[in-house]
Amino acid sequence: MTSNRITTQTRGILASHNIQLKKSLGQNFLTDQHVLNKIVQAAQLTEKAGVLEIGPGIGALTESVADIAEKVVAIEIDGRLVPILKKLFSTRPNVEIIQGDALEVDLNQIIETHFGEVEQIHVTANLPYYVTSPIIIRLLESRLPFKNIVIMIQKEVAERLAARPSTKAYGSLSVFVQYFAEVEMVAKVPSHVFVPRPQVDSAVCRLSLRSEPAVKVENESLFFAVIRAAFAQRRKTLLNTLHANLLSEMTKQQVENILIQADIQPKRRGETLNLAEFAALTQVIHTTDR
Ligand code: SAM
Repeated sequence: MTSNRITTQTRGILASHNIQLKKSLGQNFLTDQHVLNKIVQAAQLTEKAGVLEIGPGIGALTESVADIAEKVVAIEIDGRLVPILKKLFSTRPNVEIIQGDALEVDLNQIIETHFGEVEQIHVTANLPYYVTSPIIIRLLESRLPFKNIVIMIQKEVAERLAARPSTKAYGSLSVFVQYFAEVEMVAKVPSHVFVPRPQVDSAVCRLSLRSEPAVKVENESLFFAVIRAAFAQRRKTLLNTLHANLLSEMTKQQVENILIQADIQPKRRGETLNLAEFAALTQVIHTTDR
């Protein structure tokens, strides 16, 4: 379908159901077939694939993935859109529409119920920008066996996900996501391909889930706490931010000893540490009497 036709069709469907899009739900609908194709290609779908889509809107991406995948389950929060989607896909037995909040629904149960027959499970989404990070975190923390997660997100957030140490974009979200997945920025997407047009540019990102996390960590919750503390006050040295935000029961000298034991200069900033260094630091804290 041409992009102009999708735009006209999108506006037509919304107008005929008298639907005003809600900014609060991040409703910016994609109207460019090339971008839809890029998302589908990036997901590397096969005819045996199961796809979980978050926020189908009125189904532009849903249709593109349903053309290839064995099964598509789409979770939409907006009760006004659900009957439209159900009608649009009534002749497509491989598409299931579920009304729900992607932050609340039982993902395990959805997968058990709908993806029994599929070979691999993928997530695709043009994510509502107001909940991008919580949704990504939820998907990764679920440890469900997704092959990849291909998402359209705000360009700045995509840069944060893919960021390397010692860059401005590198932060706790970068480390968290890269622990679970390899991140690639697949395409930058200008704002004019959406209806309505958002204020920001977007990007398509692929998170390819690792079979094992990027680094070995004995105490994972401590690892995440160390990362949060390291970035809590970016301008401070690691020594100061760890002391203030995680290890306040220790003396500064004790915190300094921990850093030296982990082979990390206490004067460094958290933003300079790579995943292996965060893991080494966590291990020393974990094995230190506190
Ligand atoms: N997939 C469509 C497209 O590409 O045109 C729509 C994308 S639009 C950016 C985001 C969609 O997510 C909207 O349909 C919105 O109603 C839905 N949404 C917002 N918050 C949600 C949530 N917490 N759970 C599920 N869907 C959500």
